[in-house]
Amino acid sequence: MRYETITPADAGWRQRALCAQTGADFFFPEPGSSVRDAKRICGMCETRAACLEYALTHDERFGVWGGLSEKERQRLRRTTH
Ligand code: SF4
Repeated sequence: MRYETITPADAGWRQRALCAQTGADFFFPEPGSSVRDAKRICGMCETRAACLEYALTHDERFGVWGGLSEKERQRLRRTTH
């Protein structure tokens, strides 16, 4: 019998995610807090597109993903569906 390692489709981009190096605090700020720092980091992240696609596909409601805040992702969903 042959066993294969199953790698989740999203594992690749997560390993290269800049937020993995900075910690999650920036990306899940208290309600009403600024997301500017998180967005600045996302702007330098090479996996931004994959991250945003993941968040939209999995309907992630909280935090900054792919450089977009919760409200911005909601708006994007409304305009694309
Ligand atoms: S785009 Fe932002 S939230 Fe997504 S992996 Fe990169 S740093 Fe993290």
